Amino acid sequence: MGKLDFLREEVEALREQGLYTTIRTISSAQGARFTVDATSVLNFCSNNYLGLANHPHLKKAAKRAIDTFGVGPGAVRTISGTQTLHLDLEKRLAKFKGTEATIVLQAGFTANLAVIPLLVGKEDVIFSDELNHASIIDGCRLSRARVARYTHNDPASLEKTLEENAAARRKLVITDGVFSMDGDIAPLPELVEVAERHDAMIMVDDAHGEGVMGRGGRGIVDHFDLVGRVDVEVGTLSKAFGVMGGYIAGCKDLIDYIKQRGRPFLFSTGLTPADTAAALGAVELLEESDDLVKQLWENTEYFKENMAALGFDLGDSVTPITPVMIGDAHLSSRFSQRLFEEGIFAQSLGFPTVPRDKARIRVMISAVHTRDDLDYALATFARVGRELDIIP
Ligand SMILES: *Cc1c(COP(=O)(O)O)cnc(C)c1O
Repeated sequence: MGKLDFLREEVEALREQGLYTTIRTISSAQGARFTVDATSVLNFCSNNYLGLANHPHLKKAAKRAIDTFGVGPGAVRTISGTQTLHLDLEKRLAKFKGTEATIVLQAGFTANLAVIPLLVGKEDVIFSDELNHASIIDGCRLSRARVARYTHNDPASLEKTLEENAAARRKLVITDGVFSMDGDIAPLPELVEVAERHDAMIMVDDAHGEGVMGRGGRGIVDHFDLVGRVDVEVGTLSKAFGVMGGYIAGCKDLIDYIKQRGRPFLFSTGLTPADTAAALGAVELLEESDDLVKQLWENTEYFKENMAALGFDLGDSVTPITPVMIGDAHLSSRFSQRLFEEGIFAQSLGFPTVPRDKARIRVMISAVHTRDDLDYALATFARVGRELDIIP
């Protein structure tokens, strides 16, 4: 027996339970179409909401940055790795979000790990939506604060949990802005009110709302007109912004403290010049025009209306994330496989990503889909849906 044999056994066990993920390989840029395992298919599974992942403005900015700054930042930002580009991006993002300051990190995941442990510790309680993202869960664990989960999107449950923990030193409410599996959104005005009533800090992770919700894609806090009332916002540069990286937005004191004590900031090298410049290019585009955001919503409404008319169950989605509820995990994977054979790549999600009996195809709509792309997808969903007895 080798010391590492248990790893093979673990993977085997996943295979036996049908939980082994086959990772498909992409050999082209992200776009409405892309090449998957050497086949050209329509792309309905990326977070490239606005088509910025392959946008000429961002590509030009990245190339220019490489010519000026090279490819690597050379050191963590506190030693000698903070470049003018980083500061430009942070300033620009703060203006875009309407906050005093922002700090840019290597990923949205990392941003949660950086900020949560600085807000709360052992004597404190975190109030966390039961469906919050894995990176929030891990950030909570690192903080060593006690975690009290409240019922998904339920302000009354949050209030009750806050009442039960009234004695905590500090209280922090955390929610996703947009929930990535169902495409539903947090009832932020009510959550903010409850948090304010109990003198709790409130933090929103807006990874799927950034570039999608709010005026010109300013996010869910803007969407609900709550700028100034949410203490901490976490965002990603890797979804609608089309690049790579994450950020935290809030008051100057928050950002100052993260620069002094945020461990992923202090102990891990920052974004590359190309990523930073491309992200800056994304903010510039969004500030100039809301055309892409409008196109995203127009595509979303067209697709969802027609899918609902065909008889598909789209769950509670109110965003471009379109879950097509199937139920059984095997049927859902079969649906996804048939779609792929017909030229559409849309991922099937099963347990443990979603509850056991709630397997689904998750369709991600983008501004770069043409009307023809959407019509082809609708016709194919209808045909395969009837073939598998999912719709009448
Ligand atoms: C995707 C996602 C993240 C992680 O963002 P990355 O930039 O990909 O690391 C964090 N939080 C939520 C809610 C997400 O959906």
